[in-house]
Amino acid sequence: MKRWSAIQLAKLTRRTSKALGKNGTNLPGKVARTIDKNILKKLATQVDEIVFISGTNGKTTTSNLIGHTLKKNGIKIIHNNEGANMAPGITSSFILQGTQETKVAIIEIDEGSIPRVLNEITPTMMVVTNFFRDQMDRFGEIDIMVDNIAKAIQNKGIKLLLNADDPFVSRLKIASKHVIYYGLKAHAHEFEQSTMNESKYCPNCGKLLYYDYIHYNQLGHYYCSCGFKREATKYEISKFTVNPFIQFSLENQIYNMKLAGDFNAFNAIAAYSVLRELGLNDDSIKKGFETYTSDNGRMQYFSNESKEAMINLAKNPAGMNASLSVGEQIRDNKVYVISLNDYPADGRDTSWIYDADFEKLNDQQLEAIIVTGTRAEELQLRLKLAEIKAPVILERDIHKATAKTMDFKDCYTVAIPNYTSLEPMLEQLNYSFRGKHK
Ligand SMILES: [Zn+2]
Repeated sequence: MKRWSAIQLAKLTRRTSKALGKNGTNLPGKVARTIDKNILKKLATQVDEIVFISGTNGKTTTSNLIGHTLKKNGIKIIHNNEGANMAPGITSSFILQGTQETKVAIIEIDEGSIPRVLNEITPTMMVVTNFFRDQMDRFGEIDIMVDNIAKAIQNKGIKLLLNADDPFVSRLKIASKHVIYYGLKAHAHEFEQSTMNESKYCPNCGKLLYYDYIHYNQLGHYYCSCGFKREATKYEISKFTVNPFIQFSLENQIYNMKLAGDFNAFNAIAAYSVLRELGLNDDSIKKGFETYTSDNGRMQYFSNESKEAMINLAKNPAGMNASLSVGEQIRDNKVYVISLNDYPADGRDTSWIYDADFEKLNDQQLEAIIVTGTRAEELQLRLKLAEIKAPVILERDIHKATAKTMDFKDCYTVAIPNYTSLEPMLEQLNYSFRGKHK
C-alpha cells in the first residue's frame, strides 16, 4: 500500500511539475522517497540487469549509446536522463519508466553518489569511464573517492568493466573478483590533447608511474615497480579515425559512428563492452552505433536518402574555428549556413568573428555560403574580407536560410549557429530531414 501510494503520488507530481513548466526529473523521486524510503530498493528487484555508468567525463554519452542501441534492438529499458543521476532522479526513472516487460535498467550515476545509491540497489554490472581531477579538486581527492567507491562495491558480486588505460579507474579492481577491461591500443590515434600531460603517481604505492604510451592526460599504457600495471583488455580498439566522425573496426566489423570528438572513442568502446556483456552481437551493436548522434546541436548529424548535414554550435572564435575544421574534414561538396544573432544571450558584441579564421574556407570545395541571423550583413562583410570565392547568399530568416541548403543536391550541409540561432536552425533541420514539427 505504501509503495502504491508512493508511486501514484510521484506520477501525479510529475504531471503537476510538467504543467508548471519544469521538466520534473528529480521531484517525483523525491516525493516518493519521503513516503517510502525503501521505494528504490523495492523497484530495483523487478529488473534482471542493472548497469551503472559512472566516471568524470563521458558517462552521458556512454549511457546514451548503450540506451539507444538497446532500444534500437527492441529492448525495453529504464534509462535515467542526464541530470537525474543521483538517488531522487534514479528513483524517478524507475517509477516513470518501469513496466512489466522492462528487465534492464541503464543508470548513469554521479561518481559521488555511488556509495549512497549502493545502499539501496546493487547493480549487476558497472562500467567506469575515467576519473579526472577538475580544477576544484585538490591533489589526493581522486584517491579518496576511488577508495570510497571501492569500499561501497566490495564483495557485492558486481561485474566491473574498467577502462584499462586509466590507472585511477583500474585501481577499482581491488573491489571485485569479476573484472573486465576495455581500452585503446597504443598508437590507436594521435589525440588532440596528447600534449597535456603531467606526472602521474601510482594509485597503489604512490611512486611515479612509467608509461610506454600516453593517449592523453593519465590515460595510456603504464606500469609501476610495485607491479601495478595496465591490465590486458577483453575489448580494445586498435586504430580509429575521426573524419569528422569516429570510425573504427573491431572483430572484422567496421563502425561508422555519427559521434565526433576523438575522446568519444573511449566512450564507444565502453558502451560496446557493456552491450557485449549484456549478450548483444556485433550486428545488433552496429545497428545502434551507426544511428546514434547527439541531439543538442553539438556535432549533431542528419541524413536522408539524398543529403547529409552536420550542425555545430559556435559562439566564439575557438568554436567557429573548430566548426570550420570539421567542414574541412568532410570531403564532399559543401554548402554552409552560418548564423549570427546579437540578442542579449549571444552577447551584443559580435566583433569576435574577426578573430575566427574564415580564410580557411578558401581551401574547401564550396557551392555556397548562406549567412543569416540579425547580424547577417556583418558575416557577409567578414567573408568578403576573407576573399571567399564561393557565392555568399544573405537570407536574414534563419528557418528559410537553413531550408535553402536543401536545394543544394549532392551537397553536404554544414550548419553553424551561434547561441540563440541554435534552436531555429535545429528546428528547421529536424523538419527538413525528419518531417518533424516541434
Ligand atoms: Zn606502484
